[in-house]
Amino acid sequence: MTNAGEGHAPPAWAAHALGNVVVDGDTLAARVAELGRKITEDYSTDPPLLVGVLKGAMLFMSDLARSIELPVEVDFMAVSSYGTATSTSGVVRIVKDLDVDLKDRHVLVVEDIVDSGLTLNYLRRYLGARGPASLEVCALLLKEGEQRVTQSLKYVGFTIPSTFVVGYGLDVGERFRNLQGVYTYVGPESVDQ
Ligand code: 5GP
Repeated sequence: MTNAGEGHAPPAWAAHALGNVVVDGDTLAARVAELGRKITEDYSTDPPLLVGVLKGAMLFMSDLARSIELPVEVDFMAVSSYGTATSTSGVVRIVKDLDVDLKDRHVLVVEDIVDSGLTLNYLRRYLGARGPASLEVCALLLKEGEQRVTQSLKYVGFTIPSTFVVGYGLDVGERFRNLQGVYTYVGPESVDQ
C-alpha cells in the first residue's frame, strides 16, 4: 500500500534530500501487522495501555494500534531531548505528560527509533516510578551498534544501519514525517550525528 508514484523510490517532492530506501512502505506495513499479532497474543488476558512518544511514533502508533485485536487504550507523551537536533544527551524534558494513571496498568511504550538508548532509558525510569503492573517497549527501528544504554526491547520492528533516517514519522526540521517508507537523509541541511 503505497502512495501513487512512491513505490520504493522516494517521491518527487522529497527526492532531493533522500538517499536509499531503508524500509519501504509495504515492508513496514507487513511488519507492523506482524507486531500487532504478536502483541495480541502476548497481552490477550491483559490489554495494554499503549504509550506513544510524540512526534516520531505518530504513524507507527496509529498503524500498530489498528493491528492489535484487543481493547487497548492509547495515550501520548511528548519529550524533547537536550543536545543537538539529531543526537540526544540523555537529558529529556517532558513536554506533554500522560493523561492517565499508570498504577497497575500493563504499559507498552511505542517508540519510533532507538539509537543510543538514552531517551528510552529515561522514559523507562520515569514511567516505571508510577507503579505500572508491567512496562515493556515496542520500538519500530533499532540502530545497529553499541547502544550506550543496554535494555531489553520486547518488540523491535527492524534493525537498521547506524545512519540518520527520515520518514514514517521521523523528521528533519519537522519535514519528511509523511513519507510512507524510511529513507536515509542526505541533505541539503547537514546532519550532526
Ligand atoms: P536515543 O536517545 O536512543 O539516542 O535517540 C532516540 C531519539 O532520537 C528518537 O526518539 C528520535 O527522536 C531521535 N533519533 C535518533 N535517531 C534518529 C534518526 O535516524 N532519525 C531521526 N529523524 N530521529 C532520530
